[in-house]
Amino acid sequence: MESIRNIYKIGYGPSSSHTIGPSKACLYVKQKYLNATSFEVILFNSLSLTGLGHDTLTTILRIIPNCQITTKVDKSKHPNYLIIKSFLNDQLLGLDEFESVGGGKLKINGVIESSGQETYPHQTFTEIKNYCLENHLDLYEYIKKFESDLTFIEPIFQTMLNSVKNGLSKEGFLPGKLLVQRRAKEMYHTFMKNDSRRGLISAYAFSASEENAAGGLIVTAPTCGACGVIPSLVYHAYHNKKLKKSLILKSLLVAGLIGKIIEVNASISGAVAGCQAEIGSATAMASAMLCYIDNDSIEVTECASEIAIEHCLGLTCDPIMGYVQIPCIERNVFASLRAIDCANIAKGIVGQRKISLDMIIKTMYQTGLDMMSKYKETSKGGLAKAYLEKIKNDK
Ligand code: SF4
Repeated sequence: MESIRNIYKIGYGPSSSHTIGPSKACLYVKQKYLNATSFEVILFNSLSLTGLGHDTLTTILRIIPNCQITTKVDKSKHPNYLIIKSFLNDQLLGLDEFESVGGGKLKINGVIESSGQETYPHQTFTEIKNYCLENHLDLYEYIKKFESDLTFIEPIFQTMLNSVKNGLSKEGFLPGKLLVQRRAKEMYHTFMKNDSRRGLISAYAFSASEENAAGGLIVTAPTCGACGVIPSLVYHAYHNKKLKKSLILKSLLVAGLIGKIIEVNASISGAVAGCQAEIGSATAMASAMLCYIDNDSIEVTECASEIAIEHCLGLTCDPIMGYVQIPCIERNVFASLRAIDCANIAKGIVGQRKISLDMIIKTMYQTGLDMMSKYKETSKGGLAKAYLEKIKNDK
């Protein structure tokens, strides 16, 4: 398994697969064809159906303004497939194919982006757990043993804190036709007065998610859509609980390891496997993070992450009008609180579980593959469809 460093990416919202991935594709062709005078971009499936709400089109035009964009649906292609043709006047210089596979990662002309290096000799949680137990390591010590440089986590931590802080200072409406009002700031003041710990965590999750929806700077954890879960708990741990930064950084790395295991063995993309792959993964990562902070055993950590995914199984991705706002923002809030519950419940039931983390990851992926495409970031089914029907009936 490769390094965990690319599970966390600093970038602009609102969608890792719909903004960060395509922006990397545009930069790729810009650098490959230095003499290109124009481009043609063809977006397929989820990129074409929710590209407007997810800001894909504006992101592309920001990087390659001299381009024509068309959209298509072709179920034989990857859910987030795009083609870019590069031209020198009328002459075609080249055609490149991309799949935005989740978390901002790309498959370019059939080859998945990777560091090219296998950092870890293991690929599943069971393999890692057995190695740790044999060698008396905890999950952070395991990461430290194989990763040569862990300094990348410091700017991730800072950007997470900033994404929460920035959102707490803003008011007004989020961009787009839905006219969703920002709520983090007001919630924060209410829950400060009431001294509600869970309320404050909710406000923090709202905050980072609203920043994402507004195209602000966030950290994919593991995706833009799920970027409020881990930062809300990090912010709470650092500012309210006053935990040491070094402990939080280590716990973030442990969360990253869980995210990487899910990415490698399943998917973290809503377009591939529904929201269970985004919010479910973020909840599992956050649960593991909290277990590390609580100094829990590897078995408890596994149990907490497993519960997190188990009870997100079947969670569909149906953002209204393609905006990463409803249900996404509130879903981050519930996931933050659920992660706390998972970490607590795991302490009580560890040892009695019949389902392993690897088993639930596999199940989540298969469930996602079986899910109809209308529930996988196409805004064709679920809440997205119900909302459009309501508007039609109200007219
Ligand atoms: S519903 Fe979930 S997977 Fe879909 S865009 Fe929103 S957060 Fe991402």
